Amino acid sequence: MDQSGALDSLLTEERVLRPLPQLVIEANINPQELEAARKFAAMDHLGYWEEAADELDWFKKWDQVLDDKDAPFYRWFAGARCNIVYNALDRHIETANKNKLALIWEGEPGDSRKYTYFELYREVNRFANALRSLGIRKGDRVVIYMPPLPETVIAMLATAKIGAIHSLVFAGFSAKALRQRINDCQARLLITSDGFYRNGHIINLKETADAALVGSCADCVESMVVVRRCNIGVDMVDGRDFHYDDLIRQERNEAPTEVMDAADPLFMLHTSGTTGKPKGIVHSHAGYMVGVHRTLTSVFDIKPTDIFWSTADPGWVTGHSAGIYGPLLAGTTTVMYEGHPNYPQADRLWSIVARYGVTIFYTVPTMIRMLMRFGAQYPKQHDLSSLRLLGSVGEPISPETWIWLYKNIGRSECPVLDTWWQTETGMFMIAPLPISLLKPGSVTKPLPGVEAEVVDREGNPMPTGKGGLLVITKPWPAMMTGLWNDDDRYREYWTKIPGVYYAGDVARKDEDGYIWMQGRADDVINIAGHRIGSAEVEAAFAAHPAVCEVAVIGVPDRIKGEAAKGFVVLNDGFEASDGMIKELKKTVRNELGPVAVIKSIEFRQELPKTRSGKIMRRVLKAEETGTGIGDLTGGEDEE
Ligand code: ATP
Ligand code: MG
Repeated sequence: MDQSGALDSLLTEERVLRPLPQLVIEANINPQELEAARKFAAMDHLGYWEEAADELDWFKKWDQVLDDKDAPFYRWFAGARCNIVYNALDRHIETANKNKLALIWEGEPGDSRKYTYFELYREVNRFANALRSLGIRKGDRVVIYMPPLPETVIAMLATAKIGAIHSLVFAGFSAKALRQRINDCQARLLITSDGFYRNGHIINLKETADAALVGSCADCVESMVVVRRCNIGVDMVDGRDFHYDDLIRQERNEAPTEVMDAADPLFMLHTSGTTGKPKGIVHSHAGYMVGVHRTLTSVFDIKPTDIFWSTADPGWVTGHSAGIYGPLLAGTTTVMYEGHPNYPQADRLWSIVARYGVTIFYTVPTMIRMLMRFGAQYPKQHDLSSLRLLGSVGEPISPETWIWLYKNIGRSECPVLDTWWQTETGMFMIAPLPISLLKPGSVTKPLPGVEAEVVDREGNPMPTGKGGLLVITKPWPAMMTGLWNDDDRYREYWTKIPGVYYAGDVARKDEDGYIWMQGRADDVINIAGHRIGSAEVEAAFAAHPAVCEVAVIGVPDRIKGEAAKGFVVLNDGFEASDGMIKELKKTVRNELGPVAVIKSIEFRQELPKTRSGKIMRRVLKAEETGTGIGDLTGGEDEE
């Protein structure tokens, strides 16, 4: 076996898709401009990002684009003063965006609310004043435990406006997970709702919020704000709990925006917990704002007429950067949906796209696989002609899933923009633009201003075609500024391979410089002396029409040391049988070659996932080897 940690790549995908000529003509950034931007950024990394920062408004400009004297605690735009909410909201009120829709929200029962920039601005101001009345000040932590509601957006922006730090906790999390996160950041305030609608049911959220605070648990919390969503009776604790609408009723429509130092924390957010205990990632006002604004507007080619929909919950980084901050910084209209994607039936997403005229649809592979399972008849019932761009994030998307999305949702016209990034990176890092040549299953190239490399364990670049560790070799503006109260763990990202940022993913570069994600470094499988990324083996399985979802892990083998085992969820109409096992093994062998021997296959009704829908292979591994599972608070079946 190769001691450097090199991976073999067995998957070959040869399809290349060119953008339609019309798309290239209309794009904000054409191929020549993209090349020029890459060249400029490669020659003058800081100059490129300084130019990006110049597109935004500042109370005071920076003394230094990047202060690296405390590396790896990099400080972008040192000396600058700003507030992301000024750029996401306040400044639009002075422009033609004032009366444009900022937010379109739809509840699961079918109710809907729309806010122009001006209306959202006023709501945020009123709630910002209410927060100040509750004694919340700059630097205080506010935990927002909310479903996707307009008030969730308002609470985030109001918190940031007054300089406090928000930490979103997904509404599907348990009292225990919520308590952990509250204690971690020592929040003074908890914002929640009485409940929310999910799959036709009312989920009582206030009860769970109360349970998180029971006894002396999380006693840092002084007050709780409760948004009335379902108008269900909830127990209010006198002196601690306040209804949102009671609080804002008396408040004024104007509120001062706190002047923040560039590196002042904007929010903290815990990672999905796919590979271990979630980490409290901290992002700042200035760097995050610049990185998210530049990358979102370039990748999604934002135009004044766009209606942008990221299906991610606000509790994930995608909900922050692509659901709320990015679109508002760009002055576009963002869509938010409260409920279950299959309620009342499997066409709900398509009905939303059609009714609001969504032009950009950004989602996760797990959602696409679920929709594939229901078949193409659901999207066919709706007019999806408003769509012009599609996007994917969160997990490797297999070429077959990519093609399904492209054909059935994108009319074989809308590019699928597969974006690689992390909670830690804050912004898109490796992704195409609409004008890029696309290869289904590849995240294409690092964006201008992002320097990524595939290396061995010593940090030497891998030869073309050989898999290795994905690293980022230069700081980027939206990088996390640290981990909450855990500098040592933050340093680990930069010391695994000295001097570069270790992403924890494996990838390879092809002869065109295109990057193919092969999965997580923790999930590399050893088959017959070959190290292979889980994503490639899973993509090979997915080439069989019977496979809905699949996870592949390495299991101990007496003779070979390790062998591959597949866990497969079948599509409706296919039977779990010995014949099917043979067929699937053959498919993998055909796709990847004779090396890729699958030792065993187990059929499952479902796979263990994080709440954000990512497959947790570590749970399957723990089951197989009888070892501990570790922290599951980010998982679906935590209890
Ligand atoms: P934890 O770090 O706690 O294990 P997590 O890594 O799932 O959780 P996130 O920050 O939500 O937390 O996810 C980032 C990860 O998601 C990336 O490191 C990568 O593994 C995966 N990912 C994101 N986008 C893509 C993509 N386009 N292609 C392949 N993988 C992706
Ligand atoms: Mg991670």
